[in-house]
Formats: sequence, structure tokens, C-alpha cells
Amino acid sequence: MKKIASNISLQPYNSFGVDVLARHFVPADSLNEIKEILEWNKTQQQRLLILGGGSNVLFTHDYDGLVLQNNLKGISKINEDDHFVYIKAMAGENWHSFVQFCVENKYQGIENLSLIPGNVGASPMQNIGAYGVEIKDVFESLDALHLPDGVMVSFTHAQCKFGYRESIFKQSLRNQFLIVSVTYKLRKQPKFTVNYGNIEQALEQMGVKELSIEAIANAVIQIRQSKLPDPTKIGNAGSFFKNPVIHQTFYEALQKLYPEIPGFPGNDKFMTKVPAAWLIEQTGWKGYRKGDAGCYPLQPLVLVNYGKASGTEIYALSSEIIESVQEKFGILLEREVNIY
Ligand code: FAD
Ligand code: NAP
Repeated sequence: MKKIASNISLQPYNSFGVDVLARHFVPADSLNEIKEILEWNKTQQQRLLILGGGSNVLFTHDYDGLVLQNNLKGISKINEDDHFVYIKAMAGENWHSFVQFCVENKYQGIENLSLIPGNVGASPMQNIGAYGVEIKDVFESLDALHLPDGVMVSFTHAQCKFGYRESIFKQSLRNQFLIVSVTYKLRKQPKFTVNYGNIEQALEQMGVKELSIEAIANAVIQIRQSKLPDPTKIGNAGSFFKNPVIHQTFYEALQKLYPEIPGFPGNDKFMTKVPAAWLIEQTGWKGYRKGDAGCYPLQPLVLVNYGKASGTEIYALSSEIIESVQEKFGILLEREVNIY
């Protein structure tokens, strides 16, 4: 049986770099180890947290339970036809390394998702997305262990109930499953997405004459490196809030007061997505810093830990931001990061 450590600092295991203790911590490298740990926990009855790369969590206090770090590795081609290749990746694979594997093999579909931190296993959790592509666009299926009874269950696309930074695993099945592997359906004949954010500009600046999977990946990497804080240098968990999606009539009313308010089509024609970064900047938080907790000057949607901020301080800052955005615009920002 794998050794389960006690009173371990989670600082190296969360990209915010927040220093809290886990009552128990165990990295698991195989499915057998995971099953043994779950068996052990049947007698211990500890609260259980499945951790990947820790890049979408904020710990606001010590974790009074068992943190299981999922390190399952392996990537394999399980099927292909004239148009698609089906690649299965184990949950503990690093996401960006997996994207690079696909770019090198000319499997098209996830190059816009380059440089997102974290692991494969968390990719369906919030249907990760960037630059006009979401995991739901390439998702085929996943296998997950039902935590209460250890039974393996397969989920189809429809069963995952993907939404904007959402899935069933963040909603009704929260804390119920450990995602073991994910299968992606990637294209052999490319269908690129470049009309989002400033990908086209970046490609032009890079002198790209012909679109390719690699060129788009490089453009995305370059843009991200220029505006997002590197978590190995400044603690953060990416966008702290979701972009709010509001009713079109409400958006039009706001436009009368703030003619420059940006808006993008929401999930249907009655809804508009407003960049939360703009709302936060307009309420004066961009570049704000209190102690070591701050709102990143180059991208105010990202809250940062400049060194020794506690999770409580970062959370308190997020509450202040929510309050002032609501006061000024009547829009309630929702946290995207998982709070523990
Ligand atoms: P963790 O933080 O370890 O876990 C996140 C949640 O998923 C937790 O609730 C955890 O319990 C659960 N979980 C993790 N693995 C499993 C598993 N195997 N089974 C069951 N539950 C599990 N996100 C985007 O969507 N788009 C972006 O462009 C983006 N950019 C980012 C940029 C930066 C600089 C940073 C720091 C973060 C960014 N993120 C982005 C957020 C984050 O990287 C992603 O959400 C990522 O998928 C989280 O992966 P992780 O392995 O670190 O998950
Ligand atoms: P940006 O390009 O400055 O755009 C600002 C916002 O406008 C984005 O949040 C994006 O929404 C939206 N947007 C831009 N072009 C759009 C279009 N053509 N159609 C619809 N919506 C559009 O954004 P950014 O902050 O630099 O981020 C770039 C991309 O990386 C975004 O997709 C963002 O979601 C993603 N990202 C995510 C995280 C995270 O932690 N979740 C962190 C960093 C970056 P969407 O966010 O809905 O795409």
C-alpha cells in the first residue's frame, strides 16, 4: 500500500502558491494504487479531494481530509478513420505536453488550447476553453471511477453536459467521480479557428503566410506569454471569474450608459457575453494590490499572489471586486476557480 503522508504543505501543488496543509496527501501513479487508497479511505472516512496540476483551485484554509494527486500517465491512438484520429490520454498527463504531442503528429483541434496549465483529467471538468475552441469541440468520451463504490463508468459527450466553463462534474456529479482518462476526436483535415481575440494579428506579426497547426499553436503561446502571469513566477489560477452572460435587453440598457461596453454573442441570440476583465477595469481594480494579493495589471481577470498572500486574502479581494462590479453595473460575477 502506498504511503499516505500527513500534514503536508500544499504550496507546491497549487499554482496560486498558497501555503496550507493537507491532513493527508498521496500521489497515485496507477489505477491499482488509486483503488487501494480508496479502499483505505473506506475505513478512514476522510473528505477526499482529487487534485491534478492545482491550477484552478484556491485553498482558503488547511484541507482537513485526503488529497489524492492523480498522476496516471499514457497517451495512445485507439482508433482512426479517413477523417479523424481518436487519442486517449490518461488524466495525469500534462495538458500542454499533450497539445504539443497532437501538434507534432498533425492531429488538429486543440492547438488553440496551447499553454493552458494543468492536466488532461481536469480538461472536461470546466470544459476548458480559449480562443474560440472548447474541449467539447473535440471530446469523444471519458472513463471515470465512481468514488463511492469504485466502479468504472464511461461518459459520452451528451452525458458530460458541457457548458461555458461547466460540465456535469462541476454540478450534479461534483466530487462523485475521479476522471481516469479522456478520449479526444481530432481532425486529419484541418478546420482552423483564427477569428478570435488577436490570433490573426499575431500570425501576421510572426510573418505566417500559410496557416498550420504549429503556426496557430505558436501564435497562441506568444499571445499568452505576453499577457498572462507565469504561475511559476507569480501565483495565479488564470481567470478568477467567468465572463458573465446577460440578457440582450439588459446589455442594450447598459450600452446607453456605457456606449463602449464590449459584448459578444452568448449561448443564444437573446444573450450577450460581457468580458469580465472590462467590468473589473472600469471599477478601478486593474493593477490593485493589497499586501501580496492583487489584480494583475496586464489582465485584470487574473488575481495574483505576489508572494505570501493567503487564500483568505485572495478570496476577500475577489469578494470586493464582485461587490463593486455589482454596484456599478448590476452584474453578479461568478468565480470560475474552485474554492476549498
Ligand atoms: P486542478 O486545479 O488540479 O483541479 C481543478 C478541479 O478539477 C478541482 O475541483 C479538482 O478536484 C478537479 N479535478 C482535477 N483532476 C480531476 C480528475 N482527474 N478527476 C476528477 N476531478 C478532478 N482554463 C481554461 O479553461 N482556459 C484557459 O485558457 C486557462 N488559462 C489559464 C492560464 C493560467 C496562467 C492558469 C494558472 C490557469 C488557466 N486556466 C485556464 C485554468 C486551469 O488551468 C484549467 O482549468 C485546468 O484544466 C485545470 O487543470 P488542473 O489539472 O490544474 O486542475
Ligand atoms: P481577449 O482576447 O482579450 O478577449 C476578452 C474576452 O472577450 C475573452 O474573455 C473572450 O471570451 C471574449 N472574446 C474575444 N474575442 C471573441 C470572439 N470573437 N467571440 C466571442 N468572444 C470573444 O481575452 P484574453 O483574456 O486574452 O483570453 C484569451 C482567451 O484565453 C479567451 O478565450 C479566454 O477565455 C482564455 N483564457 C482563459 C483563462 C482561464 O483561466 N479560464 C485564462 C486566460 C485565458 P471567452 O473567455 O469566453 O473566450
